Amino acid sequence: MATSSQPQVLIVEDEHAQREVLAYNLEAEGCHVLQAENGDEALLAVAEHAPDLIILDWMLPHVSGIEICRRLKSRAQTRAIPIIMLSARSEEVDRVRGLETGADDYVVKPYSVVELMARVRTQLRRVRPSSVGEKLHYQDIVLDAETHKVFRGEQPIRLGPTEFRLLATFLEKPGRVWARDQLLDRVWGRDIFVDTRTVDVHVGRLRKALCQYGGDDPLRTVRGAGYALG
Ligand code: CA
Repeated sequence: MATSSQPQVLIVEDEHAQREVLAYNLEAEGCHVLQAENGDEALLAVAEHAPDLIILDWMLPHVSGIEICRRLKSRAQTRAIPIIMLSARSEEVDRVRGLETGADDYVVKPYSVVELMARVRTQLRRVRPSSVGEKLHYQDIVLDAETHKVFRGEQPIRLGPTEFRLLATFLEKPGRVWARDQLLDRVWGRDIFVDTRTVDVHVGRLRKALCQYGGDDPLRTVRGAGYALG
């Protein structure tokens, strides 16, 4: 089962051996790995799990990787998910075509696993900075995802694991309004049944912890919508 602090990566590749190598290396990086053998499976997995990153092979049976990429990038709900395209084609024109369909990066087979993992980290740093041990800041609040410490100004703030993940989620996208069920998905994980009121309880605890030494309440309740930082 995925825990919310683990980035979820979807591998779309029809060759079993290639998938296994990728899955092994991504798991070693601390990722939760989802696998799809073809385009239909890939689209289902994206709808069901909303992965943080997709590694997509160009050469797939039936629907090509390029077509999958084009579809995902043309939909508002999936456009923001970074896609790293894999291809045996090395001609510059193909590379350009790959990037033109909206792929965020493009790696030519046979690739070096070390290089591919570096590119995976680059994409994850962009979309899920807390999952790769980055420090996150908002005004006087600092969250160090590597040491799991939080400060407001000079004051250390002690948080429970749920409040820590909530704060990390807010800090990754200041200003974004999160609906309660989006927070449930991100912080508690989709596989666990938790009432949406639980979100209110933990946001309340996080607020209290952040304001215990004074300072403005950085969390905003948006009526009928959810919560936002700033
Ligand atoms: Ca293939």
